[in-house]
Amino acid sequence: MLLYSSLSHKRELILSGKLDLLQNVKFFLENIEKNKNLNSFLFVNSRILEEAQQLLEKVNSGLKPGSLFGAVIAVKDVISVEGMPMTCGSKILENFHPIYDATVIKKLRDEDALIIGKLNCDEFAMGSSNENSAYGNVLNPVDQSRVPGGSSGGSAAAVAAGLCDVALGSDTGGSIRQPAAFCGVYGIKPTYSRVSRYGLTAFASSFDSIGPLAKNPEDCALVLDVISGYDARDSTSTNSEIPVKSEKICDNSKFRIGIPKEYFGDGLNSEIRESIKILVKKLKDAGNSVDEVSLPNTHLTIAAYYVLTTAEAASNLSRYDGVRYGKRSHEETSLGSMYAGTRSKGFGKEVKRRIMLGNYVLSGGYYDAYFNKAQKVRRLIKSDFSLVFKDYDLILTPVTPELPFKFGEMSDDPLSMYLGDIYTTSVNLAGLPAISIPAGESKDGLPLAVQFIAPEFEENKLFRIADMLQQL
Ligand code: GLN
Repeated sequence: MLLYSSLSHKRELILSGKLDLLQNVKFFLENIEKNKNLNSFLFVNSRILEEAQQLLEKVNSGLKPGSLFGAVIAVKDVISVEGMPMTCGSKILENFHPIYDATVIKKLRDEDALIIGKLNCDEFAMGSSNENSAYGNVLNPVDQSRVPGGSSGGSAAAVAAGLCDVALGSDTGGSIRQPAAFCGVYGIKPTYSRVSRYGLTAFASSFDSIGPLAKNPEDCALVLDVISGYDARDSTSTNSEIPVKSEKICDNSKFRIGIPKEYFGDGLNSEIRESIKILVKKLKDAGNSVDEVSLPNTHLTIAAYYVLTTAEAASNLSRYDGVRYGKRSHEETSLGSMYAGTRSKGFGKEVKRRIMLGNYVLSGGYYDAYFNKAQKVRRLIKSDFSLVFKDYDLILTPVTPELPFKFGEMSDDPLSMYLGDIYTTSVNLAGLPAISIPAGESKDGLPLAVQFIAPEFEENKLFRIADMLQQL
């Protein structure tokens, strides 16, 4: 049992001697062991107790404790942590050991967080169910016959099962928000460029964002605040004028909320639809305005996303050639066949599918028809959002069209798996911040969730609405 309600509360309790940090870390280690069948951890940091001891000594010697002092954080296995292996859920990186900390990890450590281990995920973050990991399925702690979502399935499951305080995930088209929704926790995808991607394994570089998953919005805000900021090592990172201020969470002003009619079409599960209706009523009763709005290019979202991200992925994943990283196939006799052999054996089915799609849309003769056209669609989708945000503070949508599904139910049908990303991918196409907030349970006890989308760099609104919903 955890005796604290948030990370700042935990910090206070440790510093006032009411909570023993080492006991707390042991609690997490034991819980990881007890929940091994969930398969959410790929690596557990065996040095964490020593590191916790060093933190305590540092503070006892009079140094100021950092804002994440004692926080136990687990990291999706696409983010580089020095001293820990990084597989990206792929056989091709089996036994690969990165030699540096990602910027987000350095920032967490600078604020005295403890890294407890690496979390399972879909191979190279491609997927929506964690069934694409080369290291086995992650089970959803709420119902173990169901997927935890993906690609940050290990992250969502670890938070939901109490195996860490906060987990880091990455979100290229929904991979933080969808698993958060499926496991009943909070997950935020920040504005593109707010968080440095240095040390994040590239999937689709103009879409990828790192963000936190946690049991409450305060902890998401605190961790996001720490990992944000300009980094000379990521040329796309911005030094935003608008900081993620966790203190702003309790502002009481009301919101103008838009609900895009295109997000409530036929494919939406009826319980999710109903739960949003109920939520809208509550929001209105609390003095917020909620109106129907339009994002007219929504029907192009999935096509544009899968053209652009596969193109970027095909290029990013060309580095896994058996020479520079990870595994090499030794059966072939020429360089060319060694490349081919390494990649055929090292990559799983979904990753190969994306590389082929990506190379196809980039190839001579198809570049204009697919890649260029999708870039134009991306611009249209972004302007749809900008228009709505002229009159509204936030956009409210479902996170997923379906409740968490059973293993195997979708895995033979990649297209229907892709269509499940319909409500999350537009946010990455537009580079916006969005949060997945738990919203009760279905009649079978499965987690329900809603998504709020905010204008660029206005994450503070996402945290304020999350806080408002907690009170409602
Ligand atoms: N499910 C989406 C995909 O498979 C999103 C992945 C992600 O955000 N990393 O591409």
